[in-house]
Amino acid sequence: MSATSVDFVAVDLADVARVARAALLRAGCDEANAAATTDVIVRAERDGCASHGLFRLDGYLAALRSGKANGRAAPVARQIAPGVLRIEAQCGFAPLAMQTAREALAPLARMQGLAAAAIVDALHFSALWADIEALVDEGLGALCCTAYLPVVAPTGAIKPFFGTNPLAFGFPGDEGFIFDFATAATARGEIQIAARDGLLAPEGAGLDAQGRPTRDPAEILGGAQSPFGGHKGSALALMIELLAGVLIGQPTSVEAAREDNGDGGPPRGGLLLLAFDPARFGDAAGWRAHASAYFAQLRALPGIRLPGDRRRAERARISVEGARLPIALWRAALAAAGET
Ligand code: NDP
Repeated sequence: MSATSVDFVAVDLADVARVARAALLRAGCDEANAAATTDVIVRAERDGCASHGLFRLDGYLAALRSGKANGRAAPVARQIAPGVLRIEAQCGFAPLAMQTAREALAPLARMQGLAAAAIVDALHFSALWADIEALVDEGLGALCCTAYLPVVAPTGAIKPFFGTNPLAFGFPGDEGFIFDFATAATARGEIQIAARDGLLAPEGAGLDAQGRPTRDPAEILGGAQSPFGGHKGSALALMIELLAGVLIGQPTSVEAAREDNGDGGPPRGGLLLLAFDPARFGDAAGWRAHASAYFAQLRALPGIRLPGDRRRAERARISVEGARLPIALWRAALAAAGET
């Protein structure tokens, strides 16, 4: 570990993993839950997604301590229709349930061409790309979404009603394309980090409690975030409330807030995960070469930068240099792990 500035420290990813796992075990997770949750924390740090890395550990621990999260959940997958699985996450953190979902969904998607998993009673707090990357790596397409707590005002309103509701899509092939973003203009973690670091939120990130546009992150956290792209992002956020909530019998964001204990951890909720096998859509011999040729044309455009490019570059760099963590965050994690 070496200090890179007064405020930040570079930490080897193996140390991040050791400390996160120890803290989760100490707060009541069993090995399987601690390992799966640690994996998504470390992968977020490795890919330069600070808002979903060690920054989230405190929320995970709060949810364990308050009893909202079941650190010993043993997720179960049931096939409830030819192309539909239901994964009971048993109020555990989502990573282990997502692992269970992927393992059951991949063979079903290969057999059916397209299959869905409804993950229910999960506490989701991570970046969605981490949930679909393994499917894309093994040659499947994927789409995943989840709701949250009401923090985003629908277009035209000033009070929060939608969650930040992320959506991730992946297409396999030589390019292995994945995008993943909140349907809010800015992920909430980014606004919390801006508040913590004394920075302004991006233009258009949200409204104060009176509905006036502001870049003050504290005012946005007490007011409402805005959807990205006006009515378009607002409609996508609504779609996600329906797919990850109503469709699968799980709380929408406003409903999740009514039962949440406010411990700062993730609320109970659902995720919808779809997987498809491109080899089953009528161009088994050609789709991969077609995709490669298409991406080659796209990449030839001057100035092009595709989703995932930054993450891949960060992965190569951070795997060598370590994660850049605020010293206070690292010290808190060490304390939670019992290392101070
Ligand atoms: P960003 O706006 O940072 O990025 C979204 C996507 O767009 C990424 O795939 C990113 O690729 C890509 N991208 C960013 N800038 C460009 C650019 N200039 N040109 C092309 N592509 C670009 O995401 P958000 O802030 O909206 O979300 C951050 C994370 O928060 C997501 O991982 C999301 O899953 C997570 N989240 C989780 C929630 C939960 O409840 N669990 C709730 C809300 C968000 P790259 O990564 O390579 O930069």
